[in-house]
Amino acid sequence: MGMPVDYKSNLKSRNVSQSSSGADTVYVFMDIEIDRGCQAAVCTSIGKEDIQLYKYNEVPEFLQGNPYVRDGYRAFLSSNACIKSLFVWNNETINIWSHLIGFVIFCLCTLVDNIVMIPHYSGGFSDHLIVTAGLLCYQFCMLCSAGYHIFNCHSERASKRWLMTDLAGISVGLIGCYLPAVHYAFYCLSIWRDIYLFTVAILSAAVLFTQLHPRSFSPHWWTKRLILYCCLAAYGIIPTIHWIYLSGGWEEEMVQMFIPKVVIMYFFGMSALGFYLTKFPERYFPGKVDYIGSSHQWWHVIVVAAFFYWHAAGSEIFIYRIQHAPHMCS
Ligand SMILES: [Zn+2]
Repeated sequence: MGMPVDYKSNLKSRNVSQSSSGADTVYVFMDIEIDRGCQAAVCTSIGKEDIQLYKYNEVPEFLQGNPYVRDGYRAFLSSNACIKSLFVWNNETINIWSHLIGFVIFCLCTLVDNIVMIPHYSGGFSDHLIVTAGLLCYQFCMLCSAGYHIFNCHSERASKRWLMTDLAGISVGLIGCYLPAVHYAFYCLSIWRDIYLFTVAILSAAVLFTQLHPRSFSPHWWTKRLILYCCLAAYGIIPTIHWIYLSGGWEEEMVQMFIPKVVIMYFFGMSALGFYLTKFPERYFPGKVDYIGSSHQWWHVIVVAAFFYWHAAGSEIFIYRIQHAPHMCS
């Protein structure tokens, strides 16, 4: 069973008609109304079997991001029902669970690395600190993203707030990629390590500032935001080339070991971005991959795979450094 029809259409028309002026107050009222109305009428007895799914043209404008995904939309759900919808097969199920599972994977990595791997190779406090910080960034990214996909159907206000959180999570995830890589690559050159970490921090702050700007949801800003994310990711090429030079060029064993991993990582990034921008495959098979196989789901799965791959690469570099420590910094 879904919400009563008049309540649903009333909410839909109000959602669509919101303008930016004074909208926040109305959104607060609307969120409370959804939760109260739901508690009084439906939610006390709502089960996962009662969560209704909608078609693209039935949902409010703020949920109409991808016209090629035609069915399986959740809408008008209270916070409680959003959580219950975790167990209802809908077009966000893979988006949500891919990053919840990703979160669990990186929690397990944190435990295994700190309890088994780092002590086994006699790593020090800085190893524990850097590896844990990188993994915490990945975990934060996974949770923000899962949170956005769980609660974006609650209201327009909730959707915007969670989208900001999701975008902040991507910046933090990118920091998580840079932290261990820069730390271990420039282990013997602490000045360059600090310079690159500082530059990454400045770039990340610029990205965060841009997405917190009130106008950041307009289509024009969407492009600017995307360019900033690409710059933040592409910036890694500069320290990589510098590191090859400082390490003695292509002939060095460590360079030959690490550079293919950087190339593979950028390949992951570009293929994820490719799915995101082209909306492939749903653009060519509209309505056929609503529940499984749509571009955003590929984007999510590739992000988890890329983080995991990069973490494994970082662990290899850490082990290499420990095993070659006596003559590495000479
Ligand atoms: Zn997402």
